[in-house]
Amino acid sequence: MLLKVRSDFDSLSKKVNGKDLIYFDSAATTLKPNRVVEAIEDYYKNHNSNVHRSPHTLAGEATTMYEDARDAVANFINAKREEVIFTKGTTESLNSLAYSLSKDLNGEVLISTLEHHANFVPWQQLFDNVIYYDAENGVFNEEKYLKLVNKNTSLISITGQSNVTGQEINIKNLVLKIRKINKDVIIVLDGAQLIPHSKIDVKELDIDFLAFSGHKMLGPMGIGVLYGKKYILEKMKPFLYGGEMIDQVSIEKTTFNVLPYKFEAGTPNVGGAIGLAEAIKYLESLNVNEVYSHIKELTSYAIKKLSELDFLDVYGTKDTNHNSLISFNVKNVHPHDVANLLNDLYGIAIRSGHHCAQPLMKNLNVHSTCRASFYIYNTLEEIDVLIEGLKKVNKILG
Ligand code: PLP
Repeated sequence: MLLKVRSDFDSLSKKVNGKDLIYFDSAATTLKPNRVVEAIEDYYKNHNSNVHRSPHTLAGEATTMYEDARDAVANFINAKREEVIFTKGTTESLNSLAYSLSKDLNGEVLISTLEHHANFVPWQQLFDNVIYYDAENGVFNEEKYLKLVNKNTSLISITGQSNVTGQEINIKNLVLKIRKINKDVIIVLDGAQLIPHSKIDVKELDIDFLAFSGHKMLGPMGIGVLYGKKYILEKMKPFLYGGEMIDQVSIEKTTFNVLPYKFEAGTPNVGGAIGLAEAIKYLESLNVNEVYSHIKELTSYAIKKLSELDFLDVYGTKDTNHNSLISFNVKNVHPHDVANLLNDLYGIAIRSGHHCAQPLMKNLNVHSTCRASFYIYNTLEEIDVLIEGLKKVNKILG
């Protein structure tokens, strides 16, 4: 059963080259529901102030709204409020974590070629002993991956869903198996593509860290989260120094604030946190399971329809669990040309390029792909228009 939410998004009434916008680029960033835009506007119009500093009324209101937003995030992922650190987004969450841990952690770090650069380059640059799982044909194989886990593995960072192929990884299963081999390994989940449509319960998954971005789950840009298990965060060094994160500062010595403030130096993105909390409330009101099945239905339909087109190469969808996006190329046509024509002739927004995942492009033996990604406001009819558009593109350029 598909959701009926289109009227919640004013941006869907946009015309592109005279056509109704068909937005298939939600894996890059989702559209924002009106209530998220309104919540941010309300904050800036009526409650704007810095937080945790002054005793005046506005400061009190802003602080309460900011901390309520933290509670909303904590409840959403089943964490304690002090385990939720606001960041700019997944990239900042993962970089900050890697930077902080690199000072203390020995042993091997395991990452994979399925990762977005944000979950690849920081570990590669900051650690000496990095082991790479090389995904064959872009497909994650749990058995082969687990062969790389051993007693000397100190950290594993993995995506919950590939932003190129859409393959979902069974994180619960994987974590159980990893912990059987080495119960002490720190497990980091890049939830950027998973959390927009799937329930992530950090306790149930037994992960140590989770990173995600607000803007990929109906929230604004510039706000994201780093969740960490409390006992690890307590031992970790801060990754930014400045206001708010300190307890006492003197020439002799500086001591740090309690969690989560120890990791939130400087003026935070209060409006962003409020917008993210509103997005979470909206997603909860739709019911996360229904969000999942809506997107799954669209994705399965798109995979079926696109796979029928013999002039397309579709990547990494065979025999694996996929959701929310599909990567493909029109044979002999550059993906940018495909994306441009779909935009110009049909008002369809897709992404083309390497999707910040060059190691995975190498696995797939391509330089770049087209990617169509689906979210709660998309319909089966829009996918039919994409099919029609692709046939046209092939006729003109193929
Ligand atoms: N990880 C994955 C799997 C992603 O898809 C993305 C963005 O596309 C990121 C990390 C980086 O997210 P952001 O640019 O919001 O920091």
